[in-house]
Amino acid sequence: MSDCLFCKIVGGEIPCKKVYEDDTIFAFEDITPQAPTHILIIPKDHFASLKEVPGTKKDLLGHILLKARGLAQEAGLDESGFRIVLNTGRDSGQAVFHIHFHLLGGRRMTWPPG
Ligand code: 5GP
Ligand code: ZN
Repeated sequence: MSDCLFCKIVGGEIPCKKVYEDDTIFAFEDITPQAPTHILIIPKDHFASLKEVPGTKKDLLGHILLKARGLAQEAGLDESGFRIVLNTGRDSGQAVFHIHFHLLGGRRMTWPPG
């Protein structure tokens, strides 16, 4: 989508600190990190949120989740733990409407979330 911030990041139009890329997904550091590790993992294809992802995309969603786990391991978060967040829609606080999984770790988190 031409007007989407994260599509522009995937396309290289907007710079980012890239962490990982393959044919279908892209991972980069959040510009306003909320924890010592804060990585965003996204599909290269544009879907506004989880609501727009077709039911046929199970492999893509699984790939993102398992890559998030792998990136957490690489960041040394295996023992301490980590949180994966997928905000969806207005009440969740979703601000960028290209689906993205947050990988957060390196500090003690609280529950319930704000
Ligand atoms: P949301 O609130 O939609 O779940 O999360 C959007 C995230 O995107 C926020 O954590 C925000 O800091 C991050 N973000 C917004 N604009 C940019 C940007 O231009 N570059 C990067 N790397 N992250 C961004
Ligand atoms: Zn997009």
